[in-house]
Amino acid sequence: MRLLKTIQQFSIDHPNRLAFVNRGSTLTYSDLWNQSSQLASYIIKQTKQKRSPIIVYGHMGPEMITSFLGCVKAGHPYIPVDMSIPIERIRKIIESSKSEIFISTEAFDFETIASYPINHISENQLDLIFNSKDMVVEDWVKKEDNFYIIYTSGSTGNPKGVQITANNLQSFTDWIVSDFPIEEQRVFMNQAPFSFDLSVMDLYPALSTGGTLFTVTKEMIGNPKALFDELTDSNIQIWTSTPSFAQMCLMEPAFSDEMLPNLEVFLFCGEVLTADTARQLIERFPNAKIYNLYGPTEATVAVTMVEITNEILQSHNILPIGYCKKDSQVYIVDEDGNELQDGEKGEMIIAGPSVSIGYLGENELTDKVFFDKNGVKAYRTGDVGYRKNGMHYYQGRMDFQVKVHGYRMELEEIEANMAKSQYIEACVVIPVYREGKIDYLTVFIVPASNSFEKEYQLTSAIKKEISKLLPAYMIPRKFNYCTQLPMTPNGKVDRKTLIAEVMA
Ligand code: AMP
Repeated sequence: MRLLKTIQQFSIDHPNRLAFVNRGSTLTYSDLWNQSSQLASYIIKQTKQKRSPIIVYGHMGPEMITSFLGCVKAGHPYIPVDMSIPIERIRKIIESSKSEIFISTEAFDFETIASYPINHISENQLDLIFNSKDMVVEDWVKKEDNFYIIYTSGSTGNPKGVQITANNLQSFTDWIVSDFPIEEQRVFMNQAPFSFDLSVMDLYPALSTGGTLFTVTKEMIGNPKALFDELTDSNIQIWTSTPSFAQMCLMEPAFSDEMLPNLEVFLFCGEVLTADTARQLIERFPNAKIYNLYGPTEATVAVTMVEITNEILQSHNILPIGYCKKDSQVYIVDEDGNELQDGEKGEMIIAGPSVSIGYLGENELTDKVFFDKNGVKAYRTGDVGYRKNGMHYYQGRMDFQVKVHGYRMELEEIEANMAKSQYIEACVVIPVYREGKIDYLTVFIVPASNSFEKEYQLTSAIKKEISKLLPAYMIPRKFNYCTQLPMTPNGKVDRKTLIAEVMA
């Protein structure tokens, strides 16, 4: 595979170049390559089925990326699982993926998954494997094989695994490296945990240009002073994040080109980039270029892009999401799948070599949204948009999928899991907007009979239960209680009335 060959070449030509740096821990290209080869050899000996997925658990340490490469050099796709994911959700991922190995790069209580037929590699064992000197045996993933599987929120109540092949990833990485002003040996900021595909936007472009990945961990985000100190020392040149993260940084007056004098490029994706955020960034970083990218995990990170210049800001209140990459197509279609004219609003369909082969082990779900368009793999995004002179504009969703501070989630998944609480009879989750973006989620609950005297006691009991099922970012911020939910005449929950109530 070309991407792996490129990384291998850097490890030969520039063995001491840094592939990774974070809080004093570093990883050279030579160590990345040799340690991942040792892990690949170990995996080949341990696995019974070729290409079975391998879970890689942890946060944003160098062992994560070494493990990713170890898996694919052994011919197995990896499933990145961040530490923030609760154990019940991890169990669902193990069950649905039928993974053979669980690699832990951080402390993990394996007892909690002891009942599954899965091999455990603890962080201590991993260290021994990385440093072993065994004969190297490799069997790299082939072009059509899965490279990674990222689990994303599912409307059925369970997460679904998006399969990304080596070909999908190569198409995405080639685009970033060729169509953006990204030179070799740059320092890339990685803000999204590896279980979100936004992290792919910096990881593989960095590794395929001999660059260095600088990760922003959750401890850093939780401690703004430390975050900005570390950013000051980071020498970041390519910034990749959600617009929400940049907005948070803009609240710090010192966040400017004095703090990051070498910053060349901002890459944003995953949610609406507002004109206001872009304007502030241009003011504070006059020498950097800002790009808005658009795409879902199912089409490998992003497929459209545009540089947000002063001219674009002057002529647009709502920023465009850009032009489609050359090897792909975005079609705008009506309800019957007919292609629409320029300027007409419809569903955005993406077709091209970076479109996933579907959801792992979920044929029905896959057939609903993936199809063949003139011999090319296509995906119904569920996003509404239109096109004018080749430029695309995003207009929201057709369903209950939302983005809250950059995190993708299905309101139905939150509702399905909340409904499992013994204290909930019925519930509905409503997004609360501020300045055109979702600020937070609020939930309306019809409580089951209980003995709590105060609402806050009930809320904390429910939160305790659902935090075992859902990651913290999916738990609504505000809880409202009612005796019944409003209904539409045809018997559905009347979300519009509730939305009007929260916006009043
Ligand atoms: P994810 O799979 O987490 O990358 O989420 C994909 C969804 O995020 C898309 O289907 C869109 O709804 C939304 N999205 C991605 N990029 C943008 C963007 N630049 N502007 C607005 N929404 C976006």
